[in-house]
Parts: sequence; C-alpha cells; structure tokens
Amino acid sequence: MEKIEYAAMDVSYILDSLNEQQRNAVASPAQSLLVLAGAGSGKTRVLVHRIAWLLQAEHVSPFSVLAVTFTNKAAREMRGRIEELMEQSFGGMWVGTFHGLAHRLLRSHWQEAGLPEDFHILDADDQLRLIKRINRTLQIDEERWPAKQCQWYINSQKDEGLRADNIEHFDDDYTRTMLDIYKAYEEACDRGGMIDFGEILLRAHELWLKNPQILQHYQQRFQYVLVDEFQDTNTIQYAWLRVLAGAGNQLMVVGDDDQSIYGWRGARIENIQQFGSDFPDSDIVRLEQNYRSTSNILNAANKLIAHNQGRLGKNLWTDGAEGELISLYEAFNEQDEARFIVDRLQDWLNGGNRRSDAAILYRSNAQSRELEEALLRVGMPYRIYGGHRFYERLEIKNALSYLRLLVNRHDDTAVERIINVPTRGIGGKTIDTIRQVAREHNCSLWQACVEAVNQTLLSSRASNAVLAFLQLIDEMSKACEPLELHEKAAYIVKHSGLVQHHEKEGGEKARARIENLEELITATSSFDDPGMDEEEIDVSASTFLAAFLDQASLDAGDTQAEESEDAVQLMTLHSAKGLEFQLVFLTGLEEGLFPHKMSMDNLAGLEEERRLCYVGITRAKNKLYMSYAESRRMHGDVNLCRPSRFIKEVPNELVEEVRLKTTINRSHMPSRGGVALGHKSAHGAEVPETQISLGQRVAHGKFGEGVVLNYEGQGSNARVQVNFDAVGSKWLVMSYAKLEVLG
Ligand code: ATP
Ligand code: MG
Repeated sequence: MEKIEYAAMDVSYILDSLNEQQRNAVASPAQSLLVLAGAGSGKTRVLVHRIAWLLQAEHVSPFSVLAVTFTNKAAREMRGRIEELMEQSFGGMWVGTFHGLAHRLLRSHWQEAGLPEDFHILDADDQLRLIKRINRTLQIDEERWPAKQCQWYINSQKDEGLRADNIEHFDDDYTRTMLDIYKAYEEACDRGGMIDFGEILLRAHELWLKNPQILQHYQQRFQYVLVDEFQDTNTIQYAWLRVLAGAGNQLMVVGDDDQSIYGWRGARIENIQQFGSDFPDSDIVRLEQNYRSTSNILNAANKLIAHNQGRLGKNLWTDGAEGELISLYEAFNEQDEARFIVDRLQDWLNGGNRRSDAAILYRSNAQSRELEEALLRVGMPYRIYGGHRFYERLEIKNALSYLRLLVNRHDDTAVERIINVPTRGIGGKTIDTIRQVAREHNCSLWQACVEAVNQTLLSSRASNAVLAFLQLIDEMSKACEPLELHEKAAYIVKHSGLVQHHEKEGGEKARARIENLEELITATSSFDDPGMDEEEIDVSASTFLAAFLDQASLDAGDTQAEESEDAVQLMTLHSAKGLEFQLVFLTGLEEGLFPHKMSMDNLAGLEEERRLCYVGITRAKNKLYMSYAESRRMHGDVNLCRPSRFIKEVPNELVEEVRLKTTINRSHMPSRGGVALGHKSAHGAEVPETQISLGQRVAHGKFGEGVVLNYEGQGSNARVQVNFDAVGSKWLVMSYAKLEVLG
C-alpha cells in the first residue's frame, strides 16, 4: 500500500503539467500509438514525458528505450529535457537521429553488415568526387550525365530502399546509364570500405533483414520505440521502424501532417495514414490545445493551412491571450525590409528581451545576406542556424576567388580554390607539381603555373589545361577592366562556368547555390555606385573591387556569435521545424520567393510551401511580423514583386499593416525610415530640418526631379539614392545634395 502511494506521488510530477489528452498519451497502455496534433500542442513534450513515465511509473529500464528525432540538436535537447525532468542522466538510453542510430548499429555489427571494421563515411562532397572518378573510368559523358545528377539518382534510390539490382526498368538510356554508374559506385564503395549517408540507413535495414538473430536481439532490447516529427520520415526510415517494432514492441510516433516539409527529400506524409493499417491495434491521440502562441497567431496559422486539401484535419485552439495583431510590413525593397526588421528588433531588445528569443526566418538562403548586413551594421550578434553565413558559402567563396584573381594574381588561396573549379582537367597530380614548382622557385602558384607551362614540366594535356586557366583569368581581367563592380561580378558568374557547374549538380542544394551566386551580383550592385557626383571622389574601378573584397572577407571572418553568446537566430523555414521563439519575423512573403517559383505551379508543391508557411507562423509565441518587399533585387535585376498569396490567406482582422509611407512623417521617428535634410548651422552642427522619406519626390539643382529610392548612414554621412527622371539612379551625399522636397 505504502509502496503504491509512493509510486503515485513519485510520478505525479510527470503528469501534473499536462492536459488530459496529453496525459492519456503519456500514460497510454496501447501497444502502438499515433499522436497526431498541430503545431505547439505539446507533441515533443508528450514524447519527453512519456519516456519519463516509462522509466518512473512502469519501471522500464533506460536500456529498453529508443527515441528518434530529426536533428542532432533536437536529440540533444530531448535527452536534456528528460534528464532535467527526472534529475538524473541515462547513459544507456538511445536517443538520436535515424542516421546516428543506424550508424551506431553498423559500428557494432560491421561484420554482419558486410563492412570492414574500419569502414568510413563518405560525406556528400566525397561521394560526388567518387562518382566523378567512376564516370571517368566508365567514360560517361559528363555533359550528358552530370555527376551531380547521378549522385541524386543514387541517393533517391537508396532512400527508397533500392539497390541497383532491385530496380526495374524498360531499358531506357537514362536508367541504364544510371544503373551502370550505381553498380560501379556500389562496388567502389565496397572495395574502399566506404558508406554514404543513404547507405547508412539502407545497410542498417538490411542488417536486420539478413541477420534475424541480430534483429531479435534489438527487438528484445528496444521494447519502447518513440519517434518525433514522424511526418518527415522517408520510406527506408519507416521500414526500419516497422521491422524493429514488428514483434509487438511498443511504438509511439508523434507528428503533424500539416508540417510535412521534406517531400522533396523523399519524406512520405502517407506514412501517417499508413501507420493505422500497419499497426491495426494502434490508438490515435489528438492534442488540440496549443500552448505556444497567442490566439491571433494561432488563428492566422489555422486559417492559412485550411487552404490545403486532403488534410487529416485538426482543430487547434488556445485559451491563451489574444495577443497583438500580426504586423505586416510592405517594404520598399529588400534593404528597407532588413532595416525595418533590425529597427523592430532593437526596440524589442530595449524592452529587456533576449536576442536568442527572436528569430528571422526566410525561404531561401540567399535572403540572409541583406539581413546579415543590416545586423552587422548595427553590431547585433546573430547566429545562422543550419547554414553558412553568406560569404562563407562554398559557391560564394569560389566566385570571390575569381574576383580576387582579377585584383591580385598571386593570391594563392584563390588559385587553389578555383584552379579546377569548375573542372577543367587539372588533376591532383598536376596541382602537386605546381605547388612543388612554387616551393622551389619561392613564387606564387600563379607564377608557378606559368613556369610549369613554359618549362614543359607537365604532360601536354595538363599543360594545356593549366594554360587555358591562365588565359581564362587574363581574358576575364581584360574584359572586366572597364566594367562597374556589379558588372564584373555578373561577368565572372557567367564566364567562370560556376552556374553551369552547379546546374549540372541538380537538386535543391544546387538551386540554392545558383541563387546565391545571383545574390552575389546583387550584393555588388548595392555596394556599387559610389555616385559621389558632388564631390567627384575618384575611386578607380579596381580599388573599388578590392574594397568590396575586403568587406566580404571581414564579413566572413567575423565569426558567428559564440555558441554561448546571446544572439538573434537566423534560419531557413526548413531549419525552424520544432523550435519556438517569442518574436518571429517571417520575411520575403512574395509570389515566386515564397511560395517558391519552382513549387508554385503544381498543387503538391504549393501545398508543401503552404505547410512551410504554417511551420513559420507557428514558431511565434508572442509576436509575429510578416514582411514583403515591393521590389527585390533578385539575380542582379530589380523585380517588382507581388505579395505572397499566403498573406491574403491570413484573415484581415488578424493583421495590422505597418505602412511605411504613413508611419514616417516629419516629426515622428527621426531614427528610422527618414533622413534629416539638414543644413549647416552657423556653428557647423547638423540641424535637422525636414525629413525625407522613401518614395518621396525631390528636386536637385543639376539632375532635376526624381524619387527617393534608398538611403543609408546618418548625420553628415547620410546618403540617399534618388532615381532621377532624366538621368536615372544616383547616390548623393545628403549634406551636399541640397535636395528640395516636392509636394
Ligand atoms: P511542433 O509541432 O512545433 O513541434 P509540439 O507539438 O512539439 O510543436 P511542444 O514544443 O512540445 O509542441 O510544445 C509547445 C510549447 O507548449 C512548449 O513551450 C511546451 O513547453 C508548451 N506546453 C505544451 N504542453 C503544455 C502544457 N500542458 N502546459 C503548459 N505548457 C505546455
Ligand atoms: Mg515538436
């Protein structure tokens, strides 16, 4: 008796902080359980409390628990939350990602998995290099069958659990070629004892199928299997789970069909529906109360997602506060958008909030640059989550290396980076020889290339390739000399072959890389245009390029905020899954950007975009800003943008528009949105007199009338960009320009 009471008291803390539905899920006696619930309803919380419940109330050994989630960070957090709840640590419990857990299995059973003991993992870059080598041996036409495409093919097959021998086909050219490569690749991996990411999952699955005694061992061990973010499991992951749980183990999966956002990577939303038929005795628990967001935010999310068809259907409510309206900002352009966000962030931080409680979310990686620059400008620490900062990205570093060589041929790092990117037949051996020459002559790699060619130190093929590289850079340099900075960048992006290089790769990542390259042109064009007409400061084109490159390295070298430092969080919507923040900025809500143009014209793609938007909105606890730009520089051009359809799908009554043109006026808010049209007083100090706002018509003594497009800096450094009717766009220094405000 006493013992029971002790136990009851002991576990109450696990259930007390849960609602009834959550408690039902946590203490469920069901063999298999699907928790299907919308964002912020406590799915992850239920999973954590369920584990605590098993350990504490059902006296399950931590050794019998296997918990799977989507990212390593989420796994670490999950373990942390269990240990915090129970105030002790559980070493024997397996908590990890599918890849992490499968890898662990293979390490323990390398022999049975047909691997050498010292097998090693091929990362995506290694994998690509290997496929290229294979394609060369097989004499595959790289133009016709780019290695990246082959890589994508192989990985998708593995995600579906298919080996080359299992693939049925009609003997068409494409499949036959891909299969030849796939087979040769499998052999090469086996010979070298290497496994790629997809192989980790596939092998671990096969390990169980081929070794019933091992499977049995793990089935007996992992009596309790729990999976978070179940809606994003792919075929092979689901198969792996089913096999493990098959023998009547307890399986609990939690997920939200409305948050399935990895369809493009093979995730199958159908696994949720499938679950009921694969585990006929399963219980379904629905959680309907949202604890995360204010009701305005939650209603906005609910209304938006209602536009999708074929949902499993949910009814999410909250008894929390209504909260503030969602603020919608129509920015003049992307710079204005970034500036607006930083201003609002600063206000919010002045209110005593922590930076890490705020997140800026975007659809596409390339959008981060403008935001990063705006944050850097005010010195606000930020952290880019699950991605590199703009100037550290591989494709950007490559493009910058070309630009660097224009300025300085003896930049060895730049030569190292791009001598064979895109591939031009300069192999590792040749590069070794060139390094050797450089060492012997104590000269730069560039000079060593010249030396090596002149002294015929290389095979004639290699020598031709190196010569072609030298000529390419020289030609580029010549062609670029008279060009403006952004034209130089555009020229380099075009003629370096970098875009084609990534086009061949295919897939989402390659698309992002190409977008980033185009974004680089945009970056240079806004850096461009000193337009100091009034003072005629003479900056030569090459000095200007050097200045830009310095700025880029400074930006890149400026390390991300320390892990421990309080920093604003920047991330793509995809990386934001499962997280929550007090304040969220959802940016770039424009047709073509979000929803992304690649996914807009088919229903499935569009619905996945809408789910992504739903994920974005539901990250916010207290305050949500949505923004879009009337015009955005994309791919180097200024595009006029239409607001995203997702904005219209959020009911008007939940939204308050922050209108730039009305919020800026003469006397209010001198710190944002407007620049003082000052004049020097008798004492030489700035006396702000009038405010000038974006979109305003002004007149200039020499250039005539125009519209204010942009501004930057403050006080005597303030500059405005005016699009003059007669002479086009110019940057002018405010204190000299003597602009007259019209109308
Ligand atoms: P997502 O779909 O975004 O992954 P989720 O369903 O996993 O969301 P959680 O992250 O578990 O939701 O919970 C959302 C927030 O609500 C968390 O801050 C969590 O602590 C809180 N929460 C959940 N349930 C309760 C509850 N019963 N009482 C108080 N707070 C709760
Ligand atoms: Mg969650």
